[in-house]
Order: sequence, then C-alpha cells, then structure tokens
Amino acid sequence: MIPASFDYESPKTLNEALRLLASHEDAKLLAGGHSLLPAMKLRLANPALLIDLGRIGGLDYIRDAGDSISIGALTTHGTVASSQLLLSSSPLLAQAAANIGDIQVRNRGTIGGSLAQAHPSADYPAAVLALDAQILASSQSGERVIPAREFFTGMLTTALRPDEIITEIRVPKTAGAGTVYKKFAHPASGYAVVGVAAVVRGSTAKIEEVAVGITGVGEIAYRAEAVESALRGKPASAIAEAAKHAADKVEALGDNYASAEYRRHLVQVYTRRAVQEALSAKRK
Ligand SMILES: Cc1cc2nc3c(=O)[nH]c(=O)nc-3n(C[C@H](O)[C@H](O)[C@H](O)COP(=O)(O)OP(=O)(O)OC[C@H]3O[C@@H](n4cnc5c(N)ncnc54)[C@H](O)[C@@H]3O)c2cc1C
Repeated sequence: MIPASFDYESPKTLNEALRLLASHEDAKLLAGGHSLLPAMKLRLANPALLIDLGRIGGLDYIRDAGDSISIGALTTHGTVASSQLLLSSSPLLAQAAANIGDIQVRNRGTIGGSLAQAHPSADYPAAVLALDAQILASSQSGERVIPAREFFTGMLTTALRPDEIITEIRVPKTAGAGTVYKKFAHPASGYAVVGVAAVVRGSTAKIEEVAVGITGVGEIAYRAEAVESALRGKPASAIAEAAKHAADKVEALGDNYASAEYRRHLVQVYTRRAVQEALSAKRK
C-alpha cells in the first residue's frame, strides 16, 4: 500500500499547472486524491510527477451565470451538495453529490476530479448527462467546451486531452422541471450499483420533456434515449412500460455483488421510480 516514488509540484496558478502538464509526459493532476491516491497505493497508477491543483486559487466556486450555474472544478462534493444556489435553481447536481461516498469523501473529492476519473459507477456522470451540462477544459492552446454527452468515451476514459485541465462545469437552471437522483449504492464502497438522474417537465396528463442519465450499469454512463422517446408527449401511465427500455443497447456489467441480469432489472426499477418522483417533485 505504498506508492512508487514520484516528484511533486504545487503550482499557484492555472497557467503554471498547464505548463507543467504540457512539459511532462508522465504527469498526473492531483485534486481531492480520493481516486488517484488509492490507485497509486495499489500501483495501478505510477505517475512520475504529481501536479497538485490544491493551491491554485479561484477554481473553487459556484456562481449564478444567468441561465446557467458555473461550478469551479475544485469544488468539493460537500460544497455542491449543500449549495443553496444549486438547490434553488438546478438541484440535480446537488442531489447526486449528496449521494457520493461518505462525509470524508465528500469533503475532499472534487467535481472536476470525479468527472475526469469517469468511474463507471460514479454519481455525477448520470446528472451531468441528464442536465446536458458543459465541461470547460483549458490547455496552453486555450479553452474549449465539451458537451457532457461527448465527454465520457469509455471506462475511465474521457474526451480530455493529456494536456487539458477541467476548470469549470456549467449546468442549466431547471426552472419548471422536477429533478431526482435515485441510487442503489454498493454497501461497502457507496458507489452506484445503479444510479438514475431524471429531469422531467409536464404533468401526469402529458410529459412534455424528459431526460434520463444512468450510471453503474455499463462501462460508461449514458442517456436512456429509448426511455425518453417512449415518454415524450405521453401520460404518466406510460412510465412503467418506458422504464423497461432503460438498458436497451447497453452491455451490462456483472461482478461478485451484482450480476449483469440483476443490474438490468435494477435499472428498470430505479428508472421508473426516478421518473415518477421527478414528475411529482416540487417545482421551482
Ligand atoms: C471510500 C470511497 C468511496 C467513494 N464513493 C463514491 C461514490 O459513492 N460515488 C462517486 O461518484 N464517487 C465515489 N468515490 C470517488 C470520489 O468521489 C473521488 O473523489 C472522485 O472520483 C475523484 O475526485 P478527486 O477530486 O478526489 O480526484 P483525484 O483522485 O485527485 O483525481 C482523479 C483523476 O482525475 C484527474 N483530475 C483531477 N482533477 C482534474 C481536473 N481538474 N482536470 C483534469 N483531470 C483532473 C486526476 O489526474 C486523476 O486522474 C469514492 C472514493 C472513495 C475513496
């Protein structure tokens, strides 16, 4: 449980961090350390250089940006979970953050680190997909915006280039919508065996808009498009049948705790519950 030796830098500015990252092939960024450090101790990750983002000021914020809310990449899960701005204008991300691990994990882990890690059972990916969030990445050549739907590309793999740092996540305000995150947590790790994020607009007579993001089932989080298209314009009575499509076209993962068949069943149940609860949730 002792990591291989490594060099350590703690830049004070984003530019300095970007320069270090670009000039060292075998460098890794350190944020909350709650995914990277366990991996290093198990020697699953052996970076030659750790670039600690913790001393860079100005990457830890939650700000009103008009139609959206901007969240700095170094904002901890605990801060996201308790943000009054998020809870009053776009609660889904806060609802997902409140479900992450335990209080120690929520106090150290960051939203940027979690998204960059792209763990197949992490909670945020379901929420950022359902919200059609945007992820801002900076490099020495500038800044670019990556839509959440293009961000997760494989197990533990994202659209980030090796020289890029996530600086901000932007989520739209969800006025008039009900939002819910439902999770069946692994009893030991707390990670999602299945996690479903739902954003629903409309009434029991007619569902106007619905977005469903799912984590824990396959190698990457995904939007349940078959569920969404089976529900648009339909009454609430269509939810149970639509939820049966929650794992369509997805190769479910199986492990000692939950078989692929069990995950496929669980995700249908959790999708039904999440959409029903989002439809009846209190609207802002
Ligand atoms: C006991 C335990 C239980 C947990 N339970 C859950 C859970 O229930 N749900 C859940 O979702 N997660 C869970 N986690 C993971 C936790 O949320 C981590 O904090 C998170 O996945 C990584 O965030 P971090 O800030 O700790 O990143 P780090 O561990 O520091 O970094 C993770 C990876 O992201 C990269 N990185 C970090 N910041 C950036 C950035 N700004 N730009 C680009 N790359 C970056 C790093 O180089 C590294 O590759 C758990 C972890 C532990 C230890």
